[in-house]
Amino acid sequence: MTPRSAYLHVPFCTHRCGYCNFTVIAGRDDLMEAYIEAIEEELALLKTPRPVDTLFLGGGTPTHLPPDQLAKLLDLATRWFPMAADAELSVEANPIDITPEKVDVLAAAGVNRVSLGVQSFHDAKLKLLERDHRRAEIEAAAEQILPKIPNLAIDMIFAAPGETLDQWQDDLRSAVELGAQHISTYGLTFEKGTSFWARREKRQLTEADEELQREMYLAAIDHLTGSGLEHYEVSNFARPGFRSRHNQQYWLGRRYFAAGPGASRHIDLRRETNHRSTTTYIKRLFQGRSPVAESEELTPDMKARERLVFGLRMIRGIHLPTFQQETGTTPWDLAGAKIDHFLDLQLLEREGDQLRLTRDGLLLGDAICVELM
Ligand code: SF4
Repeated sequence: MTPRSAYLHVPFCTHRCGYCNFTVIAGRDDLMEAYIEAIEEELALLKTPRPVDTLFLGGGTPTHLPPDQLAKLLDLATRWFPMAADAELSVEANPIDITPEKVDVLAAAGVNRVSLGVQSFHDAKLKLLERDHRRAEIEAAAEQILPKIPNLAIDMIFAAPGETLDQWQDDLRSAVELGAQHISTYGLTFEKGTSFWARREKRQLTEADEELQREMYLAAIDHLTGSGLEHYEVSNFARPGFRSRHNQQYWLGRRYFAAGPGASRHIDLRRETNHRSTTTYIKRLFQGRSPVAESEELTPDMKARERLVFGLRMIRGIHLPTFQQETGTTPWDLAGAKIDHFLDLQLLEREGDQLRLTRDGLLLGDAICVELM
């Protein structure tokens, strides 16, 4: 029950990309110093350092911080969350921010995994997504990172408006050629409140049709597994030995610490989420108030359902005896009729003690998970 993972949220970005609904503050670099002081205040609430096996700095864009502030944040993070001997320390990065000096800061702090927000190798698609980098910057960033931090993960987006299957397959080839050990692929979603949502409403952007999205997802599975990566979670692929240890803690229903604007932590049966506004987060901590905006006590039933849903997102699925041992219940106690229905439709399959999504089930993973929750 004691968390062995921690997440720190760094909200700063140069600008907000049109599809992004993360907790981000754009164009307010003047707040960086106050943010670091606030994080220091929040971490001090822990009272004692908490040793961890995985630590993840995400955003926003942690590497948008200048080198001295990045070093300070990493120092704070690793002081309050001392790393076990073989721990994983990941930092999210944007290609445009990568400089030799920042790579040195990351390596010196013990960062052993960089998660680079690549999204595409096509300049026109990157422009459409409102990213501030182009293919040349991705390649330059990888060249600087790989010699010093060989564990490189990249994120890719498919089904951008107007994108063809051929273009996506070209992106997949480039992703493998870049030398990344871990590749995540996400279909573009139009989230309420984003400028992409508004532009779709005004018919300025068209969402890719469902059949094309399905073909693109299957192309990713076929190309990446054919290139030697293991498909281990609905959206995630890794070379052997390079799965994200941090994200697996979430998918396995483990507890975790978190700090920063909008960050969620899960300790014992309680989940708390900090205020999403960076200015409010800073103000609260400077006034000696709690940064927590929402808090809920999960019942064992809710926790078991989450464990079921996240477990099914793993390609190997759920090991039924372990699930029962950890939750005191079975998937059939929680949602028996629905599970039998999905088994009949061959969207789920049972093999020995494993319950998992089929290839058709992977395509409907999100909808199946909503039903089971
Ligand atoms: S860089 Fe990432 S976090 Fe920042 S605005 Fe763009 S999508 Fe959002």
